[in-house]
Amino acid sequence: MESKTEKILITGALGQIGTELTTRLVEIHGAENVVASGLDRWDKNLTSAGFYERMDVMNTQLVRQVIKDYEITTVYHLASLLSGTSEKQPLFAWKLNLEPLINFCEMAKEGLLDKIFWPSSIAVFGKGIPKTNVGQEVILNPATVYGISKMAGEKWCEYYFEKYGVDVRSIRYPGLISWKTPAGGGTTDYAVEIFYEALEEGKYTSFISEDTAMPMLYMDDAINATLQLMEAPKENLSVHTAYNLGGMSFTPKELAAEIKKEIPDFAIDYKPDFRQAIADTWPASIDDSVAKKDWGLSYEFGKTEMTKDMLKNLRVKLAL
Ligand code: NAD
Repeated sequence: MESKTEKILITGALGQIGTELTTRLVEIHGAENVVASGLDRWDKNLTSAGFYERMDVMNTQLVRQVIKDYEITTVYHLASLLSGTSEKQPLFAWKLNLEPLINFCEMAKEGLLDKIFWPSSIAVFGKGIPKTNVGQEVILNPATVYGISKMAGEKWCEYYFEKYGVDVRSIRYPGLISWKTPAGGGTTDYAVEIFYEALEEGKYTSFISEDTAMPMLYMDDAINATLQLMEAPKENLSVHTAYNLGGMSFTPKELAAEIKKEIPDFAIDYKPDFRQAIADTWPASIDDSVAKKDWGLSYEFGKTEMTKDMLKNLRVKLAL
């Protein structure tokens, strides 16, 4: 039997993850098989995908039409409000972070889609769970609207898998670090901003306190993990909520020490803001052994390699 060509739709394709994921999907599947979508108007420099749809994911009718028109088989659904922004618009965050996900699951249930990727976050863990080496099966207790929406989303994914066999896969991303696109309002964004300001100003004021450790992942490793999970045989997957992903764990002080190795005069001070309270409910490190066992998760970047790569690429990007 001839296998169907994989046709991919990415929502939130112009965001921090979407931009880089789209590039990799185009390399693998060809531009003609990738449709990027986002809220921005079309511009030829916007994306490397063969097609772009200006599409609000809350517009169910339009989303369905796009899926049908392009005969989409796989959706990477990334559009969402992040942790910092969600706290400012909690009711809207709840709607945006859940309704389109459920809508895509419904379409898969009807046979319109084969596979869905939807990212969860370490924000699902919350208060009262162990701080270090947090396992896959701990009881979730999120303290933020973002975490609550991700926890509920995970349960919807599991529900659609258990009840209807929908192939929806998810990862609990830690904080993601990338030099290509700016961060979008998350609690771990200090670990991106710090590099820009280290290069441009020689100093940085961190909105997270010096000894708060959080799990982080370099974007290259995040994209590889996402693609690995999506390529894994369905029968190998034992987790249908979302897989833990640990990456690396460091504090602002430790990251500053890595930057100082490259920029000896770099100075840092600390003025924690509302995001500190969010960070306080998040784990410091994560146990991701189940992802390693089920689909071969591995990483290339630790904090030293990541720091060197960020500074090297940002120097070129910022023409310094
Ligand atoms: P981002 O904010 O950079 O990008 C999200 C994109 O979604 C933006 O381009 C935005 O314009 C778009 N969007 C927002 N509302 C939309 C709507 N109604 N319709 C269509 N598009 C809309 O976010 P990101 O960092 O790329 O995150 C992508 C996904 O990964 C999100 O689900 C996020 O929760 C998850 N995640 C990210 C991180 C991280 O550190 N970046 C960590 C954990 C999980």
